[in-house]
Amino acid sequence: MTGLTSQERDCVERAMAAQGAMLAQVEAWAAVNSGSRNLDGLARVAGLIGDAFAVLPGEIRLVDPASVDAVDALGRRHELAHGQHLHLTVRPEAPLQILLTGHMDTVFPVDHPFQALTWLDAGTLGGPGVADMKSGIAIMLAALRAIEASEAAASIGYEVVLNSDEEVGSLASAALLVQAARGKAAALTYEPSALPDGTMAGARPGSGNFSFTVRGKSAHAGRNPEDGRNALIAAADLALRLKAAVGPSLSVNPARIDGGSPNNVVPDLAVLRVNLRPATVADQALAQALIEGSVAEVAAAHDVAIDVHGHFARPPKPMTPELESLFGIVRQAGADLGQSISWKATGGVCDGNNIAACGVPVIDTMGARGGSIHSMEEYLIVESLGQRAALSALTILRLAAEAAR
Ligand SMILES: [Zn+2]
Repeated sequence: MTGLTSQERDCVERAMAAQGAMLAQVEAWAAVNSGSRNLDGLARVAGLIGDAFAVLPGEIRLVDPASVDAVDALGRRHELAHGQHLHLTVRPEAPLQILLTGHMDTVFPVDHPFQALTWLDAGTLGGPGVADMKSGIAIMLAALRAIEASEAAASIGYEVVLNSDEEVGSLASAALLVQAARGKAAALTYEPSALPDGTMAGARPGSGNFSFTVRGKSAHAGRNPEDGRNALIAAADLALRLKAAVGPSLSVNPARIDGGSPNNVVPDLAVLRVNLRPATVADQALAQALIEGSVAEVAAAHDVAIDVHGHFARPPKPMTPELESLFGIVRQAGADLGQSISWKATGGVCDGNNIAACGVPVIDTMGARGGSIHSMEEYLIVESLGQRAALSALTILRLAAEAAR
């Protein structure tokens, strides 16, 4: 460690000393399944994490999920159930205001074969959510505890949002994130590093999931097919038109078509699912226009009705001058701790996208080093817990020092 004030050194040492506590938390929290659709498991994990965060000042509260609907294979809208989110506000009058976020859910449902923790070697723990991101939540807490024990805490206010639906798009927590981001100088989100060496994620594309319900008209396939309006063909035409717009600044993935009919009936219903990822905010506007234009053209060409459900729930997160200067602070903090910090653009999306869309610079890979996330090979590099907690604590102190300048 070089270039640290004595206050910074004390704070960093406290964060690193929490290594054992963080590992115990990761083991306890990852032992409980919290797949995004496992409401019982999410409630249990929220209880465990809420208890751990109760050592911080302020009152941690459970927030009900916002109402979210989806379209089923028959084109019917129905409500989706989500777990509650945790929300904490500390010193809202302090001169520095930051947002820290994480998610309690994982991609592994309760009946998935990947449930157990396994030591892969002395320094590597495998298990569901160990990297993404139960370790990130432990790191956030260790950094905040180290800050709270410092005199600098008086000048630092923050909100924490731990949602339970990040892995399914944060539709039930988007409004909470927007509200918590308001007025913040910066945000830190605790997704695992983009690469196992600690490389962080810079710019991210946006992402939108859409369901197009196409309603045509059934008819006998042999007797009067001309009276039918084939919804399946219209859905396929729409998929092809959207896919044809793929380029360097837009990826389009037509993923599924539900519907159809017996061979002797012209099908009157099809539901097409498409994911679109625009690189920039301007590309998102173009993609939105593409959707609207293609839907109108296909509806007219096939004489069908098309109902569009979905939106760009993850807006693009560009590299901005404000984000570059935040990265500068994190990189310098890393250098002073003997950690080399770099970042690169990635194709993935996360809550950092939504926070960036509020105009708040956000580094969204402050969590642990690890890898193979969203797979049965997911692992956590255990020594990164203390390293990353130290990095977060020092970053927050430096943000406070800058705000005081
Ligand atoms: Zn994650």
